[in-house]
Amino acid sequence: MLSPLPFHARRVKLPCLVAAGLFSLLFHPVSQAQTSSAISPQADPSHPNIILIYSDDHAYQAVSAYGDDRKLIDTPNIDRIGNEGMRLDRCLVTNSLCGPARATVLTGKYNHLNGFYNNINCRFDGSQMTFPKLLQKAGYQTAMIGKWHLETAPTGFDYWNILVGQGVYYNPVFIKNGVKAQVPGYVTDLTLKDAIDWMNHRDKSKPFLLMYQNKAPHRPWEPGLDYLNFDHDRKYDPPATLFDDYDGRGSAEHNQKMTIATNMNKADVKLIPPRDLSPDQLQTWNAYYEPRNEAFLSAHLKGKDLVAWKYNRYMHDYLACVKQVDDSVGSLLKYLDDNGLKNNTLVIYSSDQGFYLGEHGWFDKRWIFEESLRAPLLVRWPGVIKPGSVNKAIVSNLDFAETFLDAAGIPIPEEMQGHSLLPLFKGATPTDWRTSFYYHYYEYPFFHNVSPHYGVVTDQYKLIHFYDADDYWELFDLKKDPNELNSVYGQPEYKDITAKLTAELHRLETELKVPANDPPGATGKGKLVTDPGDDH
Ligand code: CA
Repeated sequence: MLSPLPFHARRVKLPCLVAAGLFSLLFHPVSQAQTSSAISPQADPSHPNIILIYSDDHAYQAVSAYGDDRKLIDTPNIDRIGNEGMRLDRCLVTNSLCGPARATVLTGKYNHLNGFYNNINCRFDGSQMTFPKLLQKAGYQTAMIGKWHLETAPTGFDYWNILVGQGVYYNPVFIKNGVKAQVPGYVTDLTLKDAIDWMNHRDKSKPFLLMYQNKAPHRPWEPGLDYLNFDHDRKYDPPATLFDDYDGRGSAEHNQKMTIATNMNKADVKLIPPRDLSPDQLQTWNAYYEPRNEAFLSAHLKGKDLVAWKYNRYMHDYLACVKQVDDSVGSLLKYLDDNGLKNNTLVIYSSDQGFYLGEHGWFDKRWIFEESLRAPLLVRWPGVIKPGSVNKAIVSNLDFAETFLDAAGIPIPEEMQGHSLLPLFKGATPTDWRTSFYYHYYEYPFFHNVSPHYGVVTDQYKLIHFYDADDYWELFDLKKDPNELNSVYGQPEYKDITAKLTAELHRLETELKVPANDPPGATGKGKLVTDPGDDH
């Protein structure tokens, strides 16, 4: 058995926000020379418009371009981006959680350098270098619309209109350039409308960056009223691991609190309506859910039958949210077609992380395991990306900032930790492209009691260390065990590969400047809430 890595043998006594600022000062101050040159208008193809369509908790299993055996949903509009461009099959996130993922996208850095470890007590340090700031300084018009979730006001944007915190699905409160107001309607419609309005009224002499960020399909998965009957009461096939008993894995997997069986509440499964509905909206909502809920209650389901019912209700609600996101993507792409913007706009569809759709009996995310580690990533850039391309290299949300800067012809600051995806877009993955990836999750125990862990991921293996309340290692062989059900850590036949992966983990920790131990507050701590009704 291997010992825990020496990198976690000493303490770094800095609060997370202070640590972030200090790290950015210590390591790589931004070069002014890299950010001050103005660029020419958008007619110049070397300065494409950039639209990041970024949804929240959208699992790749619920994108038909990826999908799984269940064939959960058809998403023709999201698929169109990949069909007319590239589908990337292995986009891994640095930390499978909303705020930390967004901080990584903005900065091109891991959370130990951008300071946003968890959603509990971290606030994004908006004074640090971000790619929107660099695009703005270089002459791009920049906008951020929809879910932001980084606690502090956006910086580096000419226009921003963000949801308060998580935001709600119905009649949400937005903060537009600092002014707060409730807006009647459904959040996916409202976010699309504002994105289109902004593009209509932008300064058309400049290229633009639009970060178009949906709340959907985040918990509590409340569909738009027009989508309630979208699947005509379909019965969804369960995943193979819906009734996983976590045998073959350690205490963290046994002790988590994110199962469909015991951690979904009444609001999650729509036995009670959302609080935010207007009387008219509530009437339509009840007309759909009440008869179905009455049938459920009169059936008195128990055990696996009850879990199966909850799973089916979960799929209905989650996928209805996804369906409306897909339609909104269709509207956005049509706008680009109709306004002559298609050919000089880089369009990216992704999500802040993956999500469990019943695999291992779970909803939510957080783990280094495949469904939460991987995000969908589809990219279109006519003239640069050959239509119908597929790339299977390990890429990451860590690479987004570098890619956008490279696409705009702006030098990539040395302090960014990812790599531009442009060579991959052009069909030429560099021979020295990464073959391993470092992952680190912190937030604990609030919410869902998922123990902090880090690890190294390759095409075939994952070596994982749970290091907080639980302290043990796991190793998964994805070729033999694609569902990640049996840790082979410590087995003699895996001794050599374990040594190689351990060395690679050390190398990555050094290269990525991972501190010796978590700074105080990195996990957020706080009281565990097992039935929160909402999460992050
Ligand atoms: Ca999320």
